Amino acid sequence: MTASIYLWNPPVYSLPVRGGDRRYPINRIFCVGRNYHAHAIEMNSPVDKATARPFYFTKSPSALVESGATVPYPTGTQNYHYEMELVVAIGASGFRVSEADAQRLIYGYAAGLDMTRRDLQLIARDQGRPWDLGKNFERSAVCTDILPIGNLGVLTAGAINLQVNGKPRQSADISQLIWNIPELLADLSQFYHLEPGDLIFTGTPEGVGAVQPGDVITGHVDQIGDITLTIGPAE
Ligand code: MN
Repeated sequence: MTASIYLWNPPVYSLPVRGGDRRYPINRIFCVGRNYHAHAIEMNSPVDKATARPFYFTKSPSALVESGATVPYPTGTQNYHYEMELVVAIGASGFRVSEADAQRLIYGYAAGLDMTRRDLQLIARDQGRPWDLGKNFERSAVCTDILPIGNLGVLTAGAINLQVNGKPRQSADISQLIWNIPELLADLSQFYHLEPGDLIFTGTPEGVGAVQPGDVITGHVDQIGDITLTIGPAE
């Protein structure tokens, strides 16, 4: 047997870990839909937690962009939206974990932007089609460096907000998550073997909206960090 030779070097998608020169390699990117009541209502899809379960979509690791980047206005949309989110970074394997055991899976946290071609997402939603064109496109998963969990534990509260060109657009609190972090990890691990390198975008609060070329997005999650993204001209 000779060693296989790859036709090209497979890329490793990764994010910096805060406080050093280590990097966190990305395995998968999960995103939670409708996880703040006021956002679910603004999307005309209110959530009754008594009868609903969380739902998920995914983004390809190749869609990842580091905070601070300038991205071109994406092709195929006329309604390109920001969604400010808390991101949970998984650091240990877990399958069918209990809520009480969920914390051991958490490597750390980040602030993220789930950038969305809203017009294409809504067409897909209303026609019962997959969301990929609206959600899983190039440079659509923006993320800061990863803050190791340290003594933070399971994050249960903290301001989350976003500005466009300095003007407030989203302002909420992590405590308003419909499904909190242990509930999400317990639920998602019913369907997937969670692995180190899995990122979970936990959903956006109300106030989503469109951006245009030249706009600068800034966002903040208390205790976690600040994110920025500049929208460049269309390709
Ligand atoms: Mn989202």
